[in-house]
Amino acid sequence: MASLDTLRSPLEFLQSRLPSIPHFDLLAAEQEWWKTEGVAISGTIDRAGTPWVRMFDQSGRRVDEILYAHEYETMLRKGYRSGVVWRALEEKSLIPTYLLMYTISFYDPGVCCPYTVSLGTAVPLAKYGSAELQARFLPQLLRKDDSVWQGATWMTEIGGGSDLGAGVKTVARPAGDTWRLTGDKYFASNAAAELAVAAARPEGSPPGVRGLALFLVPRYRRNEDGSLNYFIRRLKDKIATRSVPTGEIELRDSEAYLLGPADAGIYLILEVLNLSRVANSVVSVALVQRAMADALAYAECRTAFGKPIVDLPLLRHQFEDRLRTLRSAFALAWESVRLLDQVWMERPPYSERYHLFRLVAHLAKYWAAEFAADTAKWAMEVHGGLGTLAEYGAERWLREAMILAIWEGTPHRQMLDGLEVMERKQAHKLLFARLAEIAPAQELKEMESELQRLLNLPPDQKEAEAEAVFRRLAVFSADQLARKYSQ
Ligand SMILES: Cc1cc2nc3c(=O)[nH]c(=O)nc-3n(C[C@H](O)[C@H](O)[C@H](O)COP(=O)(O)OP(=O)(O)OC[C@H]3O[C@@H](n4cnc5c(N)ncnc54)[C@H](O)[C@@H]3O)c2cc1C
Repeated sequence: MASLDTLRSPLEFLQSRLPSIPHFDLLAAEQEWWKTEGVAISGTIDRAGTPWVRMFDQSGRRVDEILYAHEYETMLRKGYRSGVVWRALEEKSLIPTYLLMYTISFYDPGVCCPYTVSLGTAVPLAKYGSAELQARFLPQLLRKDDSVWQGATWMTEIGGGSDLGAGVKTVARPAGDTWRLTGDKYFASNAAAELAVAAARPEGSPPGVRGLALFLVPRYRRNEDGSLNYFIRRLKDKIATRSVPTGEIELRDSEAYLLGPADAGIYLILEVLNLSRVANSVVSVALVQRAMADALAYAECRTAFGKPIVDLPLLRHQFEDRLRTLRSAFALAWESVRLLDQVWMERPPYSERYHLFRLVAHLAKYWAAEFAADTAKWAMEVHGGLGTLAEYGAERWLREAMILAIWEGTPHRQMLDGLEVMERKQAHKLLFARLAEIAPAQELKEMESELQRLLNLPPDQKEAEAEAVFRRLAVFSADQLARKYSQ
């Protein structure tokens, strides 16, 4: 049963998969903090549900303050101090960030959302902000103490998140050196962040995604009248990720700064989404590990037919089989981390490697989230009836997993964007060239021809039939990549 033992600790699992782990002591300390303090805080916050928004102070002035539990701040600030955001820019590598996210999300998948969107604010500011803008705002996002500012990434509006070209109605009007944004953001995680990046359409720009630009929106009060620069209409009461305040945001002539050239906005928006999609895959895999670890702990104690249920052949086989798939899903997600780490500072026009990254990221986001939901359901079943009771925790992983599949693009979006990068950039050829070093030649050939058959279909039929082939490509790639990560 030695191999199943790696399920119990995120760091042990990472050690079993990766040849070297930078900042090992930092991750060990993080894991220890979560075991001794964080787990209890995270459970309390999940049970307590959505925090309140205090909209007015006692003199009737609009304040839109989120009333967090004190413990929430303790849990949240811990990861920022450890460097989940600042290390990426200081060390010029995303590896420490995603290693921290894996470790943390084993204990709380939700709290990695604020970290992800803060990273998704700091990175475009560092890449595309003017020197003046960077000097003014970047140091606050990279502070190493509890005064660190948080970021947020606001794209989705009421009209829909999948079709951003049609859904984004927020308008940007030039105002001297700055811009003014007016519109409503409908799913805005980390509402009340000190800085956000938001998608908006500069007045007069073309319809569709090509007309979108990316803006930096600070929360501060405006000089002219002391009013808030944006307003929180309400917070969403969600089934999970309750450690993230996700709200509705009203932008009303809100002061904003353009990032990069306006006509390249869609590329910047996709770069932000890429950082989040990779985070989402990493968090999904950690959630699989956590759900399995809890199921294992229970199965070792519960007896049926005279044995601990983990020793019954059918359940034992399921554990071992699922552990193999966990390793494959990790390999696919980690490949997306490694590729992103190589291309995250690229600007358009991008290299071939960037397009390969995009395909791997779509496969990883899709497959890791699907597997997380499936495993969370299975882990609940392992607990039998107790799995359905809120007091024992197994049901939480199912609630959390259901959000991971939707956040940052549903499975449909991943499949269709994956198809697009294959058709327009031939990214599948790059993927197959990479897999050729590790995959059996015949299996690779069969996968290639199955995919090519799909790509040759007429457009509507191709979309309609995409799921089965995309899924097989994800599983195939994950299984092959797992060979690279096994020791
Ligand atoms: C907890 C949480 C936090 C979030 N935080 C943020 C945030 O901070 N910032 C932000 O910008 N957004 C955020 N979102 C929004 C999220 O990214 C969107 O919910 C997601 O992109 C889907 O958009 P939608 O909800 O508008 O669904 P829609 O786009 O309306 O889609 C509805 C359904 O139609 C399907 N569909 C759409 N197009 C196609 C197609 N061509 N073929 C087949 N099916 C299709 C979708 O896959 C989906 O199943 C958050 C969401 C959640 C749940």
